[in-house]
Amino acid sequence: MLYDQRPCPLDITITGAGISGLSTALALSNVNREHKITVLESNASLSEFGAGVQLYANSTRLLDKWGLTSSLPKVAFQSSHMSVRRWQDNAELVSIMNNPTSTWLYEWPQWQIYRPDLQRVIFDRANELPNVNILFGYSVADMNHETGTVYTAEGSTIKADLTVAADEIWSKSRRCWNYARPCIWMVYASASGRVVLIGDAAHALLPHAGQGAGMAMEDVASLAEFVGFSTSKDNLSTTMSA
Ligand SMILES: Cc1cc2nc3c(=O)[nH]c(=O)nc-3n(C[C@H](O)[C@H](O)[C@H](O)COP(=O)(O)OP(=O)(O)OC[C@H]3O[C@@H](n4cnc5c(N)ncnc54)[C@H](O)[C@@H]3O)c2cc1C
Repeated sequence: MLYDQRPCPLDITITGAGISGLSTALALSNVNREHKITVLESNASLSEFGAGVQLYANSTRLLDKWGLTSSLPKVAFQSSHMSVRRWQDNAELVSIMNNPTSTWLYEWPQWQIYRPDLQRVIFDRANELPNVNILFGYSVADMNHETGTVYTAEGSTIKADLTVAADEIWSKSRRCWNYARPCIWMVYASASGRVVLIGDAAHALLPHAGQGAGMAMEDVASLAEFVGFSTSKDNLSTTMSA
């Protein structure tokens, strides 16, 4: 990249207003407030369902970068340790030190949060941004993975310079590309560079790994770096495959 060139404003569509989709809206807006970002969510509102999510230093440092640390104490807490026990007899198998050990070792704390609360915190921040438009009741039915055009079940056709597919483990966006199962890497090698898979849509983990949301946020941070360096719509292909 030539450093005297300005990053190029893009029309960006994100499919799915989950952890990765909303984080993407926030992070891409942070790198360029001139991006026009539309998030399509199939549900009529934010989901109230979910489990407790452990957020380790790899993700808490990103939440801080995106300006969300001050929102966490109202809905999350820092545990001293996690005790893993055998279900038959409650015998402790391992005890993992969380706080303040995480900060000593990795500079950032561990937080425990209910998944809908995490989604709400990210949503509230993204929804404040003038260049982010979050649309509920828009369900992705089909996608042209060369042009990035999204077709919804409700009959809308949405064109964009870049489409980020963040529509979870059963990703309709991924299935439209004839991928029967998740990919191992987040960027799909479409010739146009206009479509990217992230989060559970790209690499869902079993819940006990405790890193699905964390890895989704790492995808988002990487994507923001790439998109932040894009100086032309025409070089998206080169930028995204770098
Ligand atoms: C029991 C359990 C415990 C977990 N514990 C942890 C943990 O401790 N730490 C951790 O890091 N991770 C944990 N995870 C994983 C974490 O919750 C996921 O990895 C994370 O939510 C993935 O984010 P995502 O945005 O890719 O998907 P989601 O958060 O699932 O969001 C996807 C969004 O896409 C929408 N959508 C789906 N289809 C369409 C469509 N066709 N059109 C438009 N929108 C669509 C959905 O409605 C949803 O809002 C856990 C998961 C489970 C189930």
